Amino acid sequence: MTEILGIDLGTTNSAVAIWRDGKPQIIPDTDGYILTPSVVALDPANGQVVVGRRAYAIAAENPHSTIYSIKRFMGRRFLEDVVQEDLQKCRILYEVEESKRRRGGIEVAVGDKHLTPQEVSAKILQKLKADAEAFLGHEVTQAVITVPAYFHDSQRQATRDAGRLAGLEVKRVLSEPTAACLAFGYKKLTQARQKIAVYDLGGGTFDISILEVGRGPFRVRATNGNTHLGGDDLDQLIVKWILDEIGGEKKSQLQEDLIALAHLRVAAEQAKIDLSSEDEVRVQIAQSLSPASTVRNLDLTLTRAQLQAMAEVLITQTLAPCRQALQDARLPVDDIQEVLLVGGQTRMPAIRKAVEDFFGKEPNVTVNPEEVVAQGAAVQAAMLAGIATGLKLADVVPLTLGVNSKGRMDTIIPRNTPVPVVKTKIYSTAYENQESVEVQIYQGERLLVADNVKLGGFILGGIEPAPAGEPEIEVAFRVDPDGILHVSAKDLRTGNFKEITITDSMRLTEAEIKDMLREAEECAAEDAAMRQQAEMEEQIEQLVKRLKRLLAEKKGMLPEEMVTVICEALEVTSPADWQEHVVLLENLWQQGSDVLSSWEKGQSV
Ligand code: AMP
Repeated sequence: MTEILGIDLGTTNSAVAIWRDGKPQIIPDTDGYILTPSVVALDPANGQVVVGRRAYAIAAENPHSTIYSIKRFMGRRFLEDVVQEDLQKCRILYEVEESKRRRGGIEVAVGDKHLTPQEVSAKILQKLKADAEAFLGHEVTQAVITVPAYFHDSQRQATRDAGRLAGLEVKRVLSEPTAACLAFGYKKLTQARQKIAVYDLGGGTFDISILEVGRGPFRVRATNGNTHLGGDDLDQLIVKWILDEIGGEKKSQLQEDLIALAHLRVAAEQAKIDLSSEDEVRVQIAQSLSPASTVRNLDLTLTRAQLQAMAEVLITQTLAPCRQALQDARLPVDDIQEVLLVGGQTRMPAIRKAVEDFFGKEPNVTVNPEEVVAQGAAVQAAMLAGIATGLKLADVVPLTLGVNSKGRMDTIIPRNTPVPVVKTKIYSTAYENQESVEVQIYQGERLLVADNVKLGGFILGGIEPAPAGEPEIEVAFRVDPDGILHVSAKDLRTGNFKEITITDSMRLTEAEIKDMLREAEECAAEDAAMRQQAEMEEQIEQLVKRLKRLLAEKKGMLPEEMVTVICEALEVTSPADWQEHVVLLENLWQQGSDVLSSWEKGQSV
């Protein structure tokens, strides 16, 4: 039987699970730990590249050659704003530069080795694979790997590449909140359908998903989040607090001292974790913070209340996406029957309390928040291997997908449609003997394509000469189970076909998606007015066409004064008052049709 690993390749920690005895089981590493820090470093003792716990342990001694949060750079280009923002905001102490091997790509330095984010992630995956093989006692070559819900195509592709480099065939790339819900949902199969919110706050990312689970297929009704929000931010606030406590000249020295800062980060995280179960902790560092530092014997006290005050902004920032996801799922908060917590940071009592207050119910913490994503990946793996049956699930399209139709967005797949999905629409030519059509693909909620984001486009040629509007071009949008968009156009008469895969689709960051949604909301009235006008224009265009045809084909059968009125009406090319003009044209069309039908009746008598 083929065994497929379920892997949570996390920003901070990773975990691996397998389906055993009818349920997912976490595989511990050779030292018995269930989490593997997603860290790769050069061991100064022997010059070897080390991964996981060992790399994490030597991080502070070795800040320039310790790679963490590599997931932030997966599938990104060096000059992207988010990358530059990360470099400044995320305290990246290792060298990140534009790749010499792949133009525009990213490389990080581990000693004198330069690795791409895929290569670094591959080292983490290799370790997980080796640990799993040691545990199972045989080789495993296939895996399901999870990614944040907002990962765009190139990030998902980079994850696949990392798997391949690690000797794994990646059977599926699965969104983390969906995986989490799957781990939770398999237990719920026997119960009636429920609406569930999954609140996932890890070290570096936040996701909220609203799902419908139970009997039958799972349905993800909405997802939202922030790919730059997590426990790391809180660690950094604690480091800032420590520096402020030290103050003065020493604080300025420490701010420049990377080794000292790395030590402080470790101490800050530990204090934060301890404060989940203690009311106050002592932040103590007995030895010197670094060879250069004059700060010795650090001993400070941090209380849970102080930490809670620091966490307020972080907590508030997670609630706005929760509100948006509920709105997108068109559900009042009371309809949510269960709230599931995922990610190590949700162990913090203040976060549990905030989630409880927001949703008005105590969150479900029956599945370990750090294991749940890997467990879900193992459930999906078992489904793919044909072991766990009766479960189906779907992700959703985060923003509306459509094509440019005369400058306007013509929707093909509305936002929040579950994936995989295929939708088709028939288009035609705009003028006589048109030889080709251009398909321009857009993403966004606004009426005018100029206000949305262009994902790509192509031209389908070879259309046989025909009057305008006669050829039938079928445009198909397919979003595959990995969330990747494929667009094709087919000339139904000739069978001529062209397809492209949008490698940049969903490339927007969560913040950008949020901005676009906010903008769409703000411009809703303006767009609605424009839409109404556009519909009227379309109506006028159709009526003008019909009346012109009527005059061309049946002029002799119409009273002369009617012909004159129609001709006058048709001459108005840009009427000031659209509404009135539509009414006039409609009346004329009606009168013309009445005359014709009584004439035809007279003929047949
Ligand atoms: P994850 O990405 O799910 O592995 O979560 C990692 C984040 O969870 C890190 O920021 C950890 O510091 C944080 N974390 C882990 N355990 C706890 C805890 N008991 N209390 C608060 N935060 C925690």
